[in-house]
Amino acid sequence: MRRILVTGGVGFIGSGFVRRLMRAQPDTELYVVDAVTYAGNCSNLPEAVWNDPRFFFWKADIRDREVITRLVSRVDAVVHFAAETHVDNSIYNTDDFIDTDVKGTQVLLDAVRAHPVERFIHISTSEVYGTALAEPMTEEHPLNPRSPYASAKCGADRLVYSYVITFDIPAVIIRPFNNYGPYQHVEKVIPCFVTHALHDRPLPMHGDGSSSRDWVYVDDCCEGVERALTADLKAVQGEVINLGTGVDTAIGTIGAEILQRLNKPYVPIRKVPDRRGQVFRHIGSWAKAKALLGWQPRTPFLQGLQQTIDWYVEHETWWQHNTHKHGGPWHIPDQAAAEKLSSSSVQAAMVRSSATR
Ligand code: NAD
Repeated sequence: MRRILVTGGVGFIGSGFVRRLMRAQPDTELYVVDAVTYAGNCSNLPEAVWNDPRFFFWKADIRDREVITRLVSRVDAVVHFAAETHVDNSIYNTDDFIDTDVKGTQVLLDAVRAHPVERFIHISTSEVYGTALAEPMTEEHPLNPRSPYASAKCGADRLVYSYVITFDIPAVIIRPFNNYGPYQHVEKVIPCFVTHALHDRPLPMHGDGSSSRDWVYVDDCCEGVERALTADLKAVQGEVINLGTGVDTAIGTIGAEILQRLNKPYVPIRKVPDRRGQVFRHIGSWAKAKALLGWQPRTPFLQGLQQTIDWYVEHETWWQHNTHKHGGPWHIPDQAAAEKLSSSSVQAAMVRSSATR
């Protein structure tokens, strides 16, 4: 039995990866560690996984050195997904992003130094590149992170690289472009649009909707991560590998496509101020993934979008239980509202601290 530690295994992509590995690799035991924050959801894994004798779960924080060191000492490989992931949240509370995304990664890397593993797969993000300066964006594209989320991920990405150079850890750095598909939290744009449309609520659209992203279906991304686990180490150690499709689609186009596919032409699109630190265009090259991993994107965007819409239509009880970090299921990423919210949390904290003095 090969043992793999997966961090963030009840989040969106991490749970897709766990479901995939449990199916595809009968000789693998999975150790999953996840703090189950507002973004994590244990029901992302089916009963069959929870009951499988090859599956073990720890509800723990990746910053907990004792737990992480003990877990890493027992496994052959680590796949690190856990992170704070929502760009909007990083604009209002940067601490959580630096703490989890950077320091959490450092804790894992130190554990791997102390207890060497055969492979460490770090899940970075295309957000580290900022807006496309060239098309398609290769792994050589300059790093211009534009939000605190992107900067924290960029710090973690380069920290992993430094541990490869300094301590020779067997790490591979994967930079997926925007993932979408079933089980994605409703705070992210495609589930947000689908669930708003299903309830005849206006779709909240940043700016004029012309910002575009390269959309990777989550199963395709998980396949790429699995391939990175087994690829020849000499070819991939210390390498950065994009998982993109080479096609970008504007957010406004996606909103219109969703309304059309759900037959909701009367639902309006409501413009909200453009996100601070907005990335205007992402379009990724997958040539290196093809060369090093034999990976290529499989799912055309409109096919993946339809599969995603169908899943949200059929799983309303799942997404009705998604709550946002800052409130209920219908939180709208509106700057003024978020600012009001953060100032009321500051007031609440002041009340608490004066009460304890
Ligand atoms: P997600 O927000 O759905 O899941 C994150 C998971 O990490 C959750 O289960 C959460 O409970 C867990 N977590 C958060 N803080 C933790 C902590 N301190 N300790 C332990 N667990 C913690 O995110 P996702 O969309 O599945 O993204 C997974 C990874 O892929 C992240 O590293 C993200 O930066 C990266 N990524 C995501 C996308 C995308 O489009 N979703 C694209 C590129 C890269």
